Amino acid sequence: MGKKATAIPELLRKMESIYGEQEPCWPTDPYGFLVWWHCGYPASDAACAKGWQSLNQVIGIEPEQLLAASPANLAGALRPGGMVPELRALRLKEIAARVKDEFGSDLRAALVGPIAQVRKILKTFPNIADPGADRILLFGGITPVAAVPSNCPHVVVRIQRGQERENYGVTYREAQQAIEAEVPETFDARARAYLLLKRHGQDVCKRTKPKCAQCSVNSTCAFFAGNRRGGRRTPA
Ligand code: SF4
Repeated sequence: MGKKATAIPELLRKMESIYGEQEPCWPTDPYGFLVWWHCGYPASDAACAKGWQSLNQVIGIEPEQLLAASPANLAGALRPGGMVPELRALRLKEIAARVKDEFGSDLRAALVGPIAQVRKILKTFPNIADPGADRILLFGGITPVAAVPSNCPHVVVRIQRGQERENYGVTYREAQQAIEAEVPETFDARARAYLLLKRHGQDVCKRTKPKCAQCSVNSTCAFFAGNRRGGRRTPA
């Protein structure tokens, strides 16, 4: 039998003592998040923040404002966010048109009822899969799902089990199950877990080159202890 997995509450306490309390740096309103998510590419907090700031200054984010802007002007406003601004401008117009026409310009009001149905609606928007839908459900105050940061589901998996699996969906699900089991089903508790795991994944437990030697939780990490579980293969 291996060592008992590190408990997530203990892990989060350690992370919080290092990083402090974390706050979301993106709009938590569901429509705002959809717009923000398309403000940068590749979509990172920094890229999206740049595009978001520019978009707000030049055009605005309301559906009517996005629809009234010319594609060229919209792309220009999104350019500070990185690559493919023309494509992102098209996506924003698509989102704005749907929110205006299908949801009366109030997407949040439509996200009620059975969660499976709400999730289905969210996943009809471009570039929103389960991780994005979970993030909106949690931070939008819709339901306290065990959301996992899409760019670092491996963090909790490495710590508790060892090397993450090759399949992203399996790793995401393993991380989600761990949070479901150990983090109380409240908005505050699950948002705190999301934000701390995200911060640790971005700063230290990077996907390809984790900084294990400098990691403050390495003494309780199964990956650091050498558990590779026959996981991800090195690409040829
Ligand atoms: S020891 Fe390495 S694998 Fe474990 S949490 Fe820290 S950075 Fe990640």
